[in-house]
Amino acid sequence: MSFNVTFHLSYKFRLLLLFTLCLTVVGWATSNYFVGAIQEIPKAKDLMASLNKGLVLGEKGTVTEEASVKKANLNNCSSVSPHLKGQNKLVFKPDLTLEEVQAENPEVHRGRYHPEECRALQRVAILIPHRHREKHLLYLLEHLHPFLQRQQLEYGIYVIHQAGSKKFNRAKLLNVGYLEALKDEIWDCFIFHDVDLVPENDLNLYKCEDQPRHLVVGRNSTGYRLRYSGYFGGVTALSREQFFKVNGFSNNYWGWGGEDDDLRLRVELHRMKITRPLPEVGKYTMIFHKRDQGNEVNVERMKLLHQVSRVWRTDGLSSCDYKLLSVDYNPLYVNITVDFWSGP
Ligand code: BGC
Repeated sequence: MSFNVTFHLSYKFRLLLLFTLCLTVVGWATSNYFVGAIQEIPKAKDLMASLNKGLVLGEKGTVTEEASVKKANLNNCSSVSPHLKGQNKLVFKPDLTLEEVQAENPEVHRGRYHPEECRALQRVAILIPHRHREKHLLYLLEHLHPFLQRQQLEYGIYVIHQAGSKKFNRAKLLNVGYLEALKDEIWDCFIFHDVDLVPENDLNLYKCEDQPRHLVVGRNSTGYRLRYSGYFGGVTALSREQFFKVNGFSNNYWGWGGEDDDLRLRVELHRMKITRPLPEVGKYTMIFHKRDQGNEVNVERMKLLHQVSRVWRTDGLSSCDYKLLSVDYNPLYVNITVDFWSGP
């Protein structure tokens, strides 16, 4: 009998031990898996954290409680703003200064604006990749601020500046802009905007729709004609969800060309359909410039374009690593300066 009890106990004990051991092994294995997965996508994790954060705090220059209560009590703005003017003749004054543009936009603070008379239908982040184009940036800011205000948008302008001497990487800068801007505010819509393109017609709404939108139908330098039917460059509008779904831009396009075609392929792979404004509305003036040093044509681009369907999941927002050098809240825009760890 005593032998039986001892045997029974030790059998139970051994079973328990085995069970505990199994639990430990399973626990250890899954924790390693999750840590590995999270480390692989640090930026996407940050992004989810900022999306879950909800309200963003006053110190970062965004929504104070008082301002958000005031905004919540406003009626929605109408779908067509009463301030729109249509086609506008653009003038670029050679001696324009930043101080003048600031003085013309007293309601813009730390790059942000929201209408006082109604609640904007969308919160829009304008992302502008930049290097060595100060004059172009000045002209774009001069025209874009009043343009967006006439559209009664709540908006923030982010300039993402590439420091260092690696080749320019427009697409990666735009990924950085998306990830960093979401730390300020849960923007509904993102406008990916070249620094040298100025919109001529404020009926060209800087808002997102249920499909990604290409806003540049034509520019003065090409007789206002669409470059080719799949052209998706210059200025595009994607909602926060649309851009996240396609894993953003590829990070692998160094120098000029291809990254916009890559984004179009990502959009098409997700069965989304690009829309455009009417040709008389989607008109831009391109401020003339020569090809910048460090932004030579990317001869690899055709090869990269053939890989999109294979690599989009692992190359994009989820793998966008960068050295954040500074974030400066200037009166008319937020300046994000980054350098990249790798690249030519
Ligand atoms: C390039 C694009 C560019 C387009 C228009 C294409 O060949 O791949 O990046 O936007 O030409 O210039």
